[in-house]
Amino acid sequence: MQIEVLPLSNKQMKKKVTDESQLGFGKLFTDRMLLVEWTAGKGWHSARIKPYEPFVMDPATAVLHYAQEIFEGLKAYKWEDGRIALFRPEMNARRFNQSAARLCMPEVPEELFLDGIDMLVDLEKDWIPTAPETSLYIRPAMIAMDPVLGVKPSDHYYFFVILSPVGAYYAAGFNPVSILVEDVFVRSVAGGTGDAKTGGNYASSLKAGLEAKKNGYDQVLWLDGRERRYIEEVGAMNMFFAYGNHIVTAPLTGSILSGITRESVLRLAIELGCTVEERLIDVNELFSDLKAGKVTEAFGSGTAAVITPVGKLGYKEDSVQIGGGAVGNITQKLYDTLTGIQTGKIEDRYGWVRIVDPH
Ligand SMILES: *Cc1c(COP(=O)(O)O)cnc(C)c1O
Repeated sequence: MQIEVLPLSNKQMKKKVTDESQLGFGKLFTDRMLLVEWTAGKGWHSARIKPYEPFVMDPATAVLHYAQEIFEGLKAYKWEDGRIALFRPEMNARRFNQSAARLCMPEVPEELFLDGIDMLVDLEKDWIPTAPETSLYIRPAMIAMDPVLGVKPSDHYYFFVILSPVGAYYAAGFNPVSILVEDVFVRSVAGGTGDAKTGGNYASSLKAGLEAKKNGYDQVLWLDGRERRYIEEVGAMNMFFAYGNHIVTAPLTGSILSGITRESVLRLAIELGCTVEERLIDVNELFSDLKAGKVTEAFGSGTAAVITPVGKLGYKEDSVQIGGGAVGNITQKLYDTLTGIQTGKIEDRYGWVRIVDPH
């Protein structure tokens, strides 16, 4: 599909941040965005890269009421040689369409998803920060646009992509976070939408997140929705535990989001000399293993922070430190290897990196 590039006036060009340590995460956006529309009977049309600006929406627009929405998250890195790299964007395209199918939304042709991002990122390449830990965060999303209050799939959708230059996800740096096992609220259940990247999952997670913070913890460790017994995810990341060189994570049983970082960790860990296992992790067993010192490291994985070390876990009235509260060896090695591949400093032996074509 032809993607039209609309002109950008001087007035629509924003000032770039010169001090990259001030970027934060997802607070400012570049000058342009991609917008493509889908209409029943017509399919995808009107693909254009246009100035970044607010949408004009009818207050009855379906997405505002019933949350028929999906999104993705990936990053572009500017390498020292000037090339721009994306990390496994084909996986995001595929997952976007799996989410679309779950939410009764039209699939976006993979080529449109990838070419649209390529073109937009290339046009906005001056916005990609280069300081350590920084990158250009890419946010594709799709929303239901019918201005109708009846509950049904829309006949009109927007697929759009916005870009945000970002700094390190955690202002405090690569330090262990504390997590609290949530035994009342659940993020999702098998058969629900936990394995789709959709906004509603996040809206329903906010309450538990706030309560964890009130209790002095950084994030929530979610249990399964049926028995409140098996570990699922941490915040919006996949969760791993290391028993020495043996790494375990929860299997994809339908309520867990299939992370691209998760999949990459499972492959890299083997090359780092670890064994990996996807199995149900009983929170009571885990807690006694932690207390017995058998669990040596714990970390979360996701695009935004890549790897997040976990130094403390709370469950009911009890809490336990992990790895003396310091960053473990495997955790550090995985972080260094993944970010090394993403930034072109470590050879990509997996075909994970996609260089953005200059347009
Ligand atoms: C996006 C997301 C992840 C991480 O996926 P990545 O592809 O690794 O970024 C994990 N859990 C949830 C709930 C998510 O939304």
